[in-house]
Amino acid sequence: MIDFTFTEEQEMFRKAAREFAEAKIAPKVPEMEETGKPSDELIKALGEAEMMALTIPEEYGGLGLGYVARLIALEEISRVSVATAMMLQIFGLGIEPIVKFGTEEQKKKYLPGLAKGERLATVAVTEPTGGSDPKGGRTSYKKDGDDYIINGRKCFITNAHIADTIVVLAKDEEDPEAFSAFIVEEGMEGFKPSHEEHKVGMRGCNTGWLVFENCRVPGENLLGEEGKGMRVAMSAIGEVGRGGMVGCALGLQAACLEASVKFANERILYGKPISKLQTIQNKLAEIKIDLEAGRLLGYRAAAVQDKGMRAGNEFAVAKYFTTEAAQKAAKIAVDIHGGYGCMEEYPVTRYYRDAIVLGPSAGTSDIMKVIIARWVLS
Ligand SMILES: Cc1cc2nc3c(=O)[nH]c(=O)nc-3n(C[C@H](O)[C@H](O)[C@H](O)COP(=O)(O)OP(=O)(O)OC[C@H]3O[C@@H](n4cnc5c(N)ncnc54)[C@H](O)[C@@H]3O)c2cc1C
Repeated sequence: MIDFTFTEEQEMFRKAAREFAEAKIAPKVPEMEETGKPSDELIKALGEAEMMALTIPEEYGGLGLGYVARLIALEEISRVSVATAMMLQIFGLGIEPIVKFGTEEQKKKYLPGLAKGERLATVAVTEPTGGSDPKGGRTSYKKDGDDYIINGRKCFITNAHIADTIVVLAKDEEDPEAFSAFIVEEGMEGFKPSHEEHKVGMRGCNTGWLVFENCRVPGENLLGEEGKGMRVAMSAIGEVGRGGMVGCALGLQAACLEASVKFANERILYGKPISKLQTIQNKLAEIKIDLEAGRLLGYRAAAVQDKGMRAGNEFAVAKYFTTEAAQKAAKIAVDIHGGYGCMEEYPVTRYYRDAIVLGPSAGTSDIMKVIIARWVLS
């Protein structure tokens, strides 16, 4: 039998996540939009609310709640602030390879601090020469005694200027087909964040470049087997990365719907609220249909993942559908607002800008179709 209902615990968790987002995140949104990064206070609040601990096993200080819980949290946080959900989703993406591929020593060293939000994680794969084509990246490593020396630069990295625990993908200087993953820490010789991006949307989360100039990484920071780093990075991106973007997209659609319903009920034309106009009702219904369909796709993929089964293909479908739907929802929401939809006092302008940024993050819609077509043809 298929059960499409959330458990009582999951419903309670959703309620708690919503209350947390409204109380602790919503008041910070204007400041984050201005500064382009989350405040220390917000990160502390996320840590105290155990939002970073969701997928970390209990034995390493986490909650071990799994991926449906993570999706619930991200949807609720994104409903209030897509930027905060994005920041949190990439923390989760940085944590995942350590949970899945880390040695016992690495797990003990990094996971308890990450679970508390005392350490902040990210993943650095994308480079100017390789986004959709990660093998096109040029960041390289070579062995030097027990250490590794990394050279190169990474771009568009979420949390670049705030993360202190970075999973970095680099290729063997002597074998360009062999990639390895490393845990690079803030303060390691030869490593520094550089350019900070100013994005069109999700302005409240930090995105930037990382530079590695003869960066010396101890051998014990190799993550997974040497030469198998592509799997370490891609398995995390394929499930946790894309699953996280689904959460961001669902929350944004919910926010678009709520703002549109509110405006449509308040805006009086022809002597009555515009929510009485069938054209407006059709637009609201379109957002709702996509939101419900996207939830089915996303939560199903997360439930498959919670069963310990591979869910990369399911997440590719869900990521494609929900991020495209979020962009459509934001456009509809702006349209429903008429001229007010162009005025920054109205949150739909932020939703519209944020929606654009959902596209490329964790793989573009074109790449999702490539993955889905490969699945269909296999
Ligand atoms: C806000 C934001 C946050 C991000 N955070 C991170 C992060 O934390 N860590 C990280 O490593 N990366 C991060 N990224 C990078 C992101 O993963 C890449 O932007 C994405 O993979 C696309 O790569 P690209 O930007 O180089 O575009 P390109 O790969 O240059 O793509 C250009 C165009 O070509 C199309 N295209 C490419 N290949 C194909 C194909 N095979 N078939 C059809 N069309 C194709 C694309 O769909 C796109 O339209 C982030 C990006 C953004 C925008």
